[in-house]
Amino acid sequence: MVLIIVLLACSTAGFAVAWIRSRRRAMDRAIALESLAATRDRERADSAVTSQRLSAAFGIAPLGVLVLNELGTVVFANEHADQFVNGKQGHAVAETEIAAALDEAMAPGSPMVAATEVELFTPTRRVLGVQTHRLADGAGYAVFVEDLTERHRLDDIRRDFVANASHELKTPLGALSVLAETLGATDDPATRHRLTDRIAEQAQRMSRLIDDILDLALVESTSERAPVAIHSVISEAAKHVEVMSDEYDVPVEIAPVDLELTVVGDHRQLVSAISNLLENAVKYTYTAGDDVRAPVELRAWRDDASVVMEVEDHGIGISETHLPRIFERFYRVDPARTRKTGGTGLGLAIVRHVVLNHDGTIDVESEPGVGTTFRVVLALGEPEC
Ligand code: ADP
Repeated sequence: MVLIIVLLACSTAGFAVAWIRSRRRAMDRAIALESLAATRDRERADSAVTSQRLSAAFGIAPLGVLVLNELGTVVFANEHADQFVNGKQGHAVAETEIAAALDEAMAPGSPMVAATEVELFTPTRRVLGVQTHRLADGAGYAVFVEDLTERHRLDDIRRDFVANASHELKTPLGALSVLAETLGATDDPATRHRLTDRIAEQAQRMSRLIDDILDLALVESTSERAPVAIHSVISEAAKHVEVMSDEYDVPVEIAPVDLELTVVGDHRQLVSAISNLLENAVKYTYTAGDDVRAPVELRAWRDDASVVMEVEDHGIGISETHLPRIFERFYRVDPARTRKTGGTGLGLAIVRHVVLNHDGTIDVESEPGVGTTFRVVLALGEPEC
């Protein structure tokens, strides 16, 4: 009997242990499933945040981004891409070209990456760079559309500049070679004297041109920012032009400048800008050919939160048709006349660049036969301690 009771008790206990174990396993499974679900939820949330981040980043990217599935259906397009491929808003030519580039990318045996350039007339000319990429494992395609208009414009300017500078340098170089040859072939002292004078003149012309090219390169690449006293800019610029002013007999009159007047910028560049304006004023007063040469006037004053600097002359003046172009590199109103005064055609381009570097403005008023006034306006700086 006792044995039966013990056996019964044992089997009940065994059953209970088995039952507890199976419950625990079930609970463990439930916990595992719950944590799996939580992990999945977390992953889903993470991937939603990641895709939110990606689309925000692509949204502000300065290029058009399109992602397509393996069938070529657009599954993502950022805002920038919309202007090229979005029905009515999109540019029809760009859309056609992008579709053609994609067709090529989808053709069997096509390279993983292909690039092409598309020209649009909108009505201004625009150049787009279109790059198609096949995604790894046949996952689809990505297309990047970049506006290359500004890069092309700068390349054109650089190319023109190199061509113009070479041409400008070739002229005195050609003259030097002819003059040297002629010099070698003559024994007449008077002719030799005249020829050496002309050789020196041409060499100076080349040297001025190289100086201006270097100056322009410098103002385009660097610019300091420190308090600059306007009176020191004015007096240094006037000193630069002293020799020319004496040689051409054109005086420079400087109105008294407030010693407190300052701007924040690059002292050397500002002196170079004002010197260039003064040199022009002296040169083009001299070329007017009057017996009595009216002085060039230089003044600077404060106007609210700005500093105004003015260079006024009573020389030959500039006609209205030329005014919009005089700040271009190598542009001269009268190339023959400028050659006589040794102009390089780069002076005003340097001035314009210096003013741009200082976030200022420059304007010009002129009347042929009456004179010219250049006005530079810069933001007023704190007075110097
Ligand atoms: P340049 O070295 O030939 O003087 P700039 O770039 O300084 O070159 O000036 C461009 C052109 O603008 C000059 O060739 C000249 O025709 C005209 N110009 C500039 N300043 C004056 C001025 N004060 N009076 C008349 N013409 C001027």
